[in-house]
Amino acid sequence: MLELLLPRRCAGCGAAGVTLCEPCRIEWRRPPFRVDPRVDPRVPVFALGPWGGVHRSTVIGIKERGRRDAIPEIGAVLGAAIGYLTARGDLPATPRPVLSPAPTRRRAARLRGGDTVAAICRATGFGVVPLVQLAPSVRDSADLDAASRRTNLLGAVRLVRRVGGWPERVVVVDDVVTTGATAAATVERLSVAGIQVTGVVALTAA
Ligand SMILES: [Zn+2]
Repeated sequence: MLELLLPRRCAGCGAAGVTLCEPCRIEWRRPPFRVDPRVDPRVPVFALGPWGGVHRSTVIGIKERGRRDAIPEIGAVLGAAIGYLTARGDLPATPRPVLSPAPTRRRAARLRGGDTVAAICRATGFGVVPLVQLAPSVRDSADLDAASRRTNLLGAVRLVRRVGGWPERVVVVDDVVTTGATAAATVERLSVAGIQVTGVVALTAA
């Protein structure tokens, strides 16, 4: 319906007529790589691309500009990346990985029409279990240094109430890893709850 009003454009570069053009798909198909954020979450962290160029515009498009049409494409790419990491032994292959989206503010997610990282996870073909969210009171961490962000976030990452069993091991997925503070707080919070995080996979690394 929306397509009748707005001609489709590539979420990565703006080329006309496609959700994601071939050159942008090629960028997204590059193998995931290991990153070492300043705050060490004590589990391996991987990213699919840099926080720049095609990767950045695609993530912003999905998150901020209503480009939910790109979710299946990026979900497939993420699924392939998880498969690649398990095949290489960078992530345990058995039991089959369960993905858990990094925490977001519920209200912010609602305003965007849902948690986009969770939606991308659901498009991978792997199981998805949301386990954490950010407390509504969490301070905006943009103006804090890494150590303060960590303290700030530790108190802010909350377990979501969930009926039924928890998975024993999960892979945490985020859209962008910067200082690693959110990842570290999430790993710590889940560890206290008896859930082992085997790795963090981010769509982009800043
Ligand atoms: Zn493109």
